[in-house]
Amino acid sequence: MPTKKDYYEIIGVPKDADEKEIKKAYRKLAMQYHPDRNKEPEAEDKFKEISEAYGVLSDPEKRKQYDRFGHAGIDAQYTQEDIFGSINFEDIFRGFGGGGGRGGGIFETFFGGGGVRRGPERGSDLRYDLRISLEDAATGIEKKGDVMRTETCDVCKGTGAKPGTTSKTCTHCHGTGQISQARRTPFGQFITSTPCPHCSGAGKIIESPCSSCNGRGRVRRPRTLSIRIPAGIGSGDRIPHRGEGEAGMRGGPPGDLYIFVHIDPHPVFKRDGNDILYELPIHFTQAALGDEVLVPTLHGDVRMKIPAGTQSGSTLRLRGKGMPKLHGLGKGDQLVKLGVVVPTHISAREREILTELQGIEAKNPSKGGKKHKGIFEKVKDAFV
Ligand SMILES: [Zn+2]
Ligand SMILES: [Zn+2]
Repeated sequence: MPTKKDYYEIIGVPKDADEKEIKKAYRKLAMQYHPDRNKEPEAEDKFKEISEAYGVLSDPEKRKQYDRFGHAGIDAQYTQEDIFGSINFEDIFRGFGGGGGRGGGIFETFFGGGGVRRGPERGSDLRYDLRISLEDAATGIEKKGDVMRTETCDVCKGTGAKPGTTSKTCTHCHGTGQISQARRTPFGQFITSTPCPHCSGAGKIIESPCSSCNGRGRVRRPRTLSIRIPAGIGSGDRIPHRGEGEAGMRGGPPGDLYIFVHIDPHPVFKRDGNDILYELPIHFTQAALGDEVLVPTLHGDVRMKIPAGTQSGSTLRLRGKGMPKLHGLGKGDQLVKLGVVVPTHISAREREILTELQGIEAKNPSKGGKKHKGIFEKVKDAFV
């Protein structure tokens, strides 16, 4: 048997340390080696070692015995259970955050958890990705979606037993679904529980399983869902459908279904929050003379006035022609960016008129548009 280390050395206090010093030193070490915090493999042994030392030194009776007779005096008179049992872990870990606060948690950490609970379990959440067009997002839409999901078997109502038969209580675990084993440890007696292998933790044995679900109580089936998409929805928004996820286990509630909305890029419109951006190419005669044009919007074509003297790159606003505000009133705007297009091919007649215009501009470089108006009108007619 290896020589046991001195308890004072283990805790790191002098032989004449008082109760307070011992407690302070132990608490510091305990925080360092607590298996909840310290995942090193040797932490658990170290924690037991310091706890044993503290169990003796913190108890005046045991400490006196140890001071007089050393380890022999303790081993002869006390069991390990006596030593650990006297430590008030709640008190030691009080005031520390995290896992250290749960004094009782120490035992669970050491001995593999407080058993497996096989009670009702909520079903998993499901995700469904839905692609829609920008037009659909603007008006809102009702869509059908096919989801594959686990549902409670309607034939056996989830019991897993053939209708008219019942399941019987598992005799191995007496219906608890767990096999418990008592373990004696230095910390006292602890119960470890594992799922019963005979009933897989269900607590019941089904003698005539339901033929529809093979005794599982749940079946996978495709389900067509009606999905309502509100007007103004954004790409990446998710719509929860409560209780439409996977069926729960052992009577637990179902999970939720989340519709993830993706909006396809639009060939002509760009979305910017509640506003719609649209680029409209116009002829330089329209820019100079002004015009009225039809502009497509998400809500149908709209007549728009281009004022005379419009510069290329300027933006006109069509109020209320953008996206509806989700969960709100009103709509955003459509912003129409005008780009003046210069023709690359011109007819002989156009060339004649433009040359004439060029001549006028050369003679009157400072004159405004008024004088040019007649010429522009001619150009416009020529293009119609
Ligand atoms: Zn069934
Ligand atoms: Zn069982």
